[in-house]
Amino acid sequence: MNIELKNVSKTYNLHSNNSVTALNDVSLNINQGDYISICGVSGSGKSTLLHLIGGMDRPTSGNMFIDGRDIYAMKDREIAEYRNKDLGFVFQDYALIPYRTVEENMMVPLYFSNKKKSSYQKIIDECLNKVQMEEYKNRKISSLSGGQKQRIAIARALVMNPSVILADEPSGALDSSNRQVVLELFEEINKDGKTVIVVTHDSELANQARRRITIVDGKLYEQG
Ligand code: ADP
Ligand code: MG
Repeated sequence: MNIELKNVSKTYNLHSNNSVTALNDVSLNINQGDYISICGVSGSGKSTLLHLIGGMDRPTSGNMFIDGRDIYAMKDREIAEYRNKDLGFVFQDYALIPYRTVEENMMVPLYFSNKKKSSYQKIIDECLNKVQMEEYKNRKISSLSGGQKQRIAIARALVMNPSVILADEPSGALDSSNRQVVLELFEEINKDGKTVIVVTHDSELANQARRRITIVDGKLYEQG
C-alpha cells in the first residue's frame, strides 16, 4: 500500500486565540515495505502525524492518498474500514482491555471484520506464536508484565494481517530487555514486508528504521 501525504496541515482550535499548528504543510510519500522512524521533542507534532496517517483525525488542509484514493474525501465508515483492515496500531500504554483475557483482546479487530468465527482461533494462535506468547492465551491482561502486554499489543496489531503497522512510542514504558524484544519484533514485521512507521524517543529503535524523519515545529526533515 502506498500512502502519500500532500501539503497536509493540522491546526487545533483553528478559529480561537489559542490555536496551535501541529503540522505545517507536510508532504510525505510512504511505499509498501518502508521502515520509518519519526523523532522530535514533545509537542513537535509526532502523534498528530500518526493520527492523520491512521485516519483517526482529519487535517485542516491538504490530502492523503492511499493507493491513489483520497482518504479524507472518504466517508467515516470507509475510513474505519481502512483502519481495521489495512492498519495495525501499537501504543506506549498498550491500549488493551485490562479485565479481559489475551484471547478476548485479540478477538476485537476480528469481530469488526467479515472473517468467519471458525477462523479466529487459528489466526490468534499464529499471531501469539509470532510474539512467543501462546501459553498466555487465557490470562487476564491485568496479570501480565509491561513487556508481555506490549507483545500482546503487537500480536493484536497483526491479527488482521495489515499492510502497515503504526506505533506511537512502543518501547517508551519498557525496561531494556523488553525494549530489545520489541525492536526485534518490529524488525521481523518489516522483513515480512509490512510497512512500519514508528514514533519514538528511543534512538536505537529510531536508527533501526531505514528512513529517519525528525519533526521540528510541525515540519518534516528526512535524513540522507
Ligand atoms: P508530540 O506527539 O510530538 O508530543 P502532538 O502531535 O501530540 O506532539 O502535539 C503537537 C501540538 O499540538 C502540541 O502543541 C499539542 O499541545 C497540540 N495538540 C495536540 N493535540 C491537541 C488537541 N486535541 N487539541 C489541541 N491541541 C493539541
Ligand atoms: Mg505524542
